Amino acid sequence: MTVAAPKQTLPPLARPVTTLRGVGPERAAQLARLEIHTVEDLLLHRPRRHEDRRQFRPVADLQLGEAAVTRGKIVAQGVKWFAKHSKSIFEFVLDDGTARLHCRWWNLPFMEKYFAVSDEVVVFGKLLSVKPRTIDHPETEIVEAGGENFIHLSRFTPIYPLTEGLPQRWLRSLIWRTLGEAESQIIEPWTAAGFPTRARAIRMIHFPEGNDDPEAARRRLALDEFIELQSQMQLRRKNFEAKAEALPCGGDNHLMKPFLARLGFKLTEAQTKVLRELRKDLSGEHPMRRLLQGDVGSGKTVVAACCALMALESGYSVALMAPTEILAEQHFRNFTKWFELLRVPVELQTGSHKTVQSPKSKVQSHEPPSSLQLPASRITHHASRITQRAALFIGTHALLTAGFDLPNLGLVVIDEQHRFGVAQREQLVRKGHYPHLLVMTATPIPRTLGLTLYGELDLSVIDGMPPGRGQIKTFVRAADKLPKVWAFIRDKLAQGRQAYVVYPRVEETGPDGIKAVTKEFDHLQQTLGPFRVGLVHGRLAARVKEEAMAAFRANTVQVLLTTSLIEVGVDVPNATVMLIENAEQFGLAQLHQLRGRIGRGAHDAYCILVAAAKGREARQRLRVLEETNDGFRIAEEDLKLRGPGELLGQQQSGLPNFRFGDLSTDLELIQQARQLVNRT
Ligand code: ADP
Ligand code: MG
Repeated sequence: MTVAAPKQTLPPLARPVTTLRGVGPERAAQLARLEIHTVEDLLLHRPRRHEDRRQFRPVADLQLGEAAVTRGKIVAQGVKWFAKHSKSIFEFVLDDGTARLHCRWWNLPFMEKYFAVSDEVVVFGKLLSVKPRTIDHPETEIVEAGGENFIHLSRFTPIYPLTEGLPQRWLRSLIWRTLGEAESQIIEPWTAAGFPTRARAIRMIHFPEGNDDPEAARRRLALDEFIELQSQMQLRRKNFEAKAEALPCGGDNHLMKPFLARLGFKLTEAQTKVLRELRKDLSGEHPMRRLLQGDVGSGKTVVAACCALMALESGYSVALMAPTEILAEQHFRNFTKWFELLRVPVELQTGSHKTVQSPKSKVQSHEPPSSLQLPASRITHHASRITQRAALFIGTHALLTAGFDLPNLGLVVIDEQHRFGVAQREQLVRKGHYPHLLVMTATPIPRTLGLTLYGELDLSVIDGMPPGRGQIKTFVRAADKLPKVWAFIRDKLAQGRQAYVVYPRVEETGPDGIKAVTKEFDHLQQTLGPFRVGLVHGRLAARVKEEAMAAFRANTVQVLLTTSLIEVGVDVPNATVMLIENAEQFGLAQLHQLRGRIGRGAHDAYCILVAAAKGREARQRLRVLEETNDGFRIAEEDLKLRGPGELLGQQQSGLPNFRFGDLSTDLELIQQARQLVNRT
């Protein structure tokens, strides 16, 4: 198997569609609405389905509720108006000699002008009733007299996505003709046993000969897309490595030793293994570009701290970015506690909090303590950057704001990466002169997404949990069991534990009965009193949120009512119960994240997912969470159910748009593409 260099523009195929016969400005504008600008775009315009028009189903054989293609002649048609002319039905009656079929369109009276009695029509749809035989809103295509019917009939016929004014038949003819003319110009980036050529695949995706052809073609074209993406990533990585000089951040253990000695627990084998990988990167030739994956609670924070210490030991500053203020503040507290005795300055910079105005002035005002003095060997060509005292800067996006220039930046750690877009990641890293980058995520990302989103990053996985953890037991319950659930929670509170209660909304309880935290607060306080309830949601001022979190941490409130805001990273070991109502509103991966907030201490933990009493199907979907604690399995399941955009959180997902590739199914192809590209 061989691969050509990253695919180049294909001059003949790059011609604009206006160079094609029959495509004037009006048609070109319509095609542009479908993102078809060039001949290649046209050839890659993917049918949304195929219709088997080799044999039409006789009208008499149409089955109730089953989608089928039939064909016949219009014998009557007309529009019926009713409800004082505000509603209408357009209907034509089709006869194919076996029976008659009524095709109806509601409130689209202008349809009348598209059809005429004695037209031959192909109809695709589901039979709605038998007496009379009726299909509502079928897809139709008029059979035109003339020589081109071999393109449209007697075959697996492609049905394309269209736009207003663009006829299915016209587009199909255009693609047919263009294929004939341009097929020989399609460049084959590679050939391999088991895959059709690209040219053949492009023909088959439009005009397949058998049932399996479209999928075989799709796989080939998807592989081309993955290869292109992987080669871009590889190229970026190579360019980056060619110009980026690595800062020596491997450290010398003079901070790490006392840190680990005082930590209070031993690192797990999994954590130690990852730290070895990190240290190798930090003292390597190229700046580190690494993704750290570990399920919730696997102990990524300590690993990040050790990594930060290596850079700090080497005299470089470190930036740690978190996706929410709550999490940034929690990190700030933890790291301050950990690093105080090491005399490493820790600064906080969020939208509403700054412990530092300009890091430069503040930093310079410190006397460098002995623990941070550099070994002489380090003060070489990087000396100018190390004149300022190394510090740890913790923050949210605010760390990115212009004018806040982090001096002497050696390492950037991004926590819970999936909340940041790829663009933001780049932006942040460019703050310094190619600092090392560690990206951490607790969303176990299915392999397909990981390789696509983070293909240019190396991967480390913390694949074991710290010892001594209680189990999280998860239960899915219907809403009518809530009284029992409340009794259970009161019981746990009486034993001295704490609980989270999670609702999807902040303010309005919808007509759908989806609960909102502000609306339910008083009710919850009544239900659970005399235990005290605190409230946290995204619309509260940062100070208010923080006070509520502090009270919960201090156990002056026992119950925290919250939205999914709490999802990321928050750590209160005494909280062992979590109730999530309207659980069907959340994705599986998100629920897994949420329940990761409990089960962080030695006590057993309980997560109760309550879904609408009627939502049997929704509850079925939630059962995966009862069955497994394996974040990767859950993420795979979520990907299948909801697709990549949803799983990663809509806009910020940063996923490329594939025409043919499918991230929920194509792991094998992605791996194949990666192997092919890495071999060049
Ligand atoms: P996450 O990977 O979800 O970010 P954290 O870093 O917040 O997890 O760790 C969860 C909890 O486990 C924290 O309270 C942390 O102090 C603790 N922890 C981390 N590593 C160990 C370990 N090796 N042994 C015992 N407890 C640990
Ligand atoms: Mg974390």
